[in-house]
Amino acid sequence: MLKDKLYRVLLYYKYVPIEDAEEFATAHLEFCKELGLKGRILVADEGMNGTCSGTVEQTNKYMETLKQDPRFEDMVFKIDEADGHAFKKMHVRYRPELVTLRLEDDIDPREQTGAYLSPKEFYKQMQSDDTIVIDARNDYEYDLGHFKGAIKPDIHSFRELPDWIKQNRDKIKDKKILTYCTGGVRCEKFSGWLKEEGFDDVSQLHGGIVTYGKDPEVKGELWNGKCYVFDERISVPINQVDHVVVGRDHFTGEPCERYVNCANPECNKQILCSEENEHFYMRGCTDECRVHPRNRYIKEQDLTEEEVQKRHEKIESHRVTHG
Ligand SMILES: [Zn+2]
Repeated sequence: MLKDKLYRVLLYYKYVPIEDAEEFATAHLEFCKELGLKGRILVADEGMNGTCSGTVEQTNKYMETLKQDPRFEDMVFKIDEADGHAFKKMHVRYRPELVTLRLEDDIDPREQTGAYLSPKEFYKQMQSDDTIVIDARNDYEYDLGHFKGAIKPDIHSFRELPDWIKQNRDKIKDKKILTYCTGGVRCEKFSGWLKEEGFDDVSQLHGGIVTYGKDPEVKGELWNGKCYVFDERISVPINQVDHVVVGRDHFTGEPCERYVNCANPECNKQILCSEENEHFYMRGCTDECRVHPRNRYIKEQDLTEEEVQKRHEKIESHRVTHG
């Protein structure tokens, strides 16, 4: 690995009460802008969750300053080296809660949460027969990469997880449950909720997938594919030993790890597809999206109506021959 990159991407969270959260967010934005950082930070009454990029000097200053605040003195920063910024702008936003599970009574992970497993402990435990591994992320994150054998809940978004668990209670109630997410912030709450629901043996991957990928002993083993991240890199590698592609092209089902957004601005769905298929299908995830009057691909490529018509005919004849 290169050691002399000039930029870094930080990922961090901390559940800790922030009384003046809205004012804190405003001041924190000013501070980040002065430093020259870019990124996305959420400030809530229950804590802070952020990811931002900057030079080594800027990010050092940021971490030092944050740790001087007694609320954040034990903040754990996950650090990736980078060639440049991973964001276009700097946002700091106030939210009532850090992660949303649509719960009537919200969970405070400082009171109730799953046991923390180190990467090595998680690696061992996930191979045990009495254990199930539940992916606590959104579907498009799972589709790009996940732990081998992990359950993909049949949901689109993380916040639907509690309902899914309730419907599948019988299948999981006698198992040891492991949960994981990108950096750990979602599992803190999700595993806490599972315990609240009466599941006894619940553990979470401490530090999340990105920490697992950096562990010198497990080296990311048993992770398949790549890890989706919420910045311009889109994904980062995890398994340092053998990289298995699990992503599948939206149109052809071929192995693929390239995400694009559907060109219909009203859809904007993330789909995995090759560059070739992006052009062939005019980046529309469905027929409707393809013919949408504001299809961004058609505008970008400056296609005439006649050209668009020709493309549709090609897609149609391709469908007839290939089913
Ligand atoms: Zn679409």
